[in-house]
Amino acid sequence: MLVVMSQRATAEEVDAVVAAIEGKGYTARPIPGGERVAIGVLRNQGAVDASHFLGLPGVKEVIPVTRPYKLVSREFQPEDTVVRVGDISIGNGHLTLIAGPCAVESEAQCLKTAQMVKRAGAHIFRGGAFKPRTSPYSFQGLGEEGLKILDKVREATGMPVITEALDTETFSLVEDYTDVIQVGARNMQNFSLLRRAGRSKKPVLVKRGLSATIDEWLMAAEYILEGGNTQVMLCERGVRTFAHHSRNTLDLSAVAAVCKESHLPVIVDPSHAAGRRDQVIPLSRAGIAVGAHGLMVEVHHNPEEALSDGAQSLYPEQFETLCQEVRAIFDVFRPSHSEKQRGT
Ligand code: PEP
Ligand code: MN
Repeated sequence: MLVVMSQRATAEEVDAVVAAIEGKGYTARPIPGGERVAIGVLRNQGAVDASHFLGLPGVKEVIPVTRPYKLVSREFQPEDTVVRVGDISIGNGHLTLIAGPCAVESEAQCLKTAQMVKRAGAHIFRGGAFKPRTSPYSFQGLGEEGLKILDKVREATGMPVITEALDTETFSLVEDYTDVIQVGARNMQNFSLLRRAGRSKKPVLVKRGLSATIDEWLMAAEYILEGGNTQVMLCERGVRTFAHHSRNTLDLSAVAAVCKESHLPVIVDPSHAAGRRDQVIPLSRAGIAVGAHGLMVEVHHNPEEALSDGAQSLYPEQFETLCQEVRAIFDVFRPSHSEKQRGT
């Protein structure tokens, strides 16, 4: 439930409503809006009796929240969340391009690729230091050495970096080095990892699980917001289907659905969806056209030599083409990438 305060409500009246909600054993979560404050009522078992709060001074109305997820929903917050990474804004009318190799392999590889993707127009550099691999015999990433390389990339290029936190044991280490923390598809329902991400001061990108429903995906993000971290992005990276022409199936309708359901920025990862480089540019165009706020794309300066996901990694020149094309598409649809047009 959401208790909406009137525009003229004082801070004392807001505090009194918070105290009344907590007095009933619920959790109160004030959500400052542009014009007025709303207070979310969380942790209620079953329906909450609105009459407890309706008569309190400063209360304008009480709105039931019908969705299972609360904090991530547009019912709680109609305005788009803008995630800030340094001076980069993600969401609500901004186009954000994240690019880099699947895995950090060496300093030379990362620096070379980073310089190329930056020149093409990337805003954030990606690269896994701890890799979730299907086989224990595959390259597992360089670990802390990889994080140190990402530090050097930031220093050399000025680009912030995103990398995956694979488990709670290494979370703090990753958090110290990176600008954005990635929760991988396989970890989307690792609830202790999500709770740890909720306590982080760094933005988090939550990838959709391989066969997760939209409700499950949004609930995963809800864990992080509920923990106090509101700087969260969603990433659609393809789901498992019967298709053999691609590694996964990019679920474009899910992008449209979550943009409508949630105020969080949505990023499309065409690389893990496609699994093959020839589909990456077309899927990128589609992702932006359907409403995503950005893309995360695997690029390698020499994909034939990549230690992981070489087949889906773009050549730097291809990434340049991708940037030009998606920027043009974004410009055409710019008004519908901001909150005004959502939910219609
Ligand atoms: C990745 O982005 O490096 C990755 C492993 O992706 P996913 O978790 O979507 O498989
Ligand atoms: Mn990869």
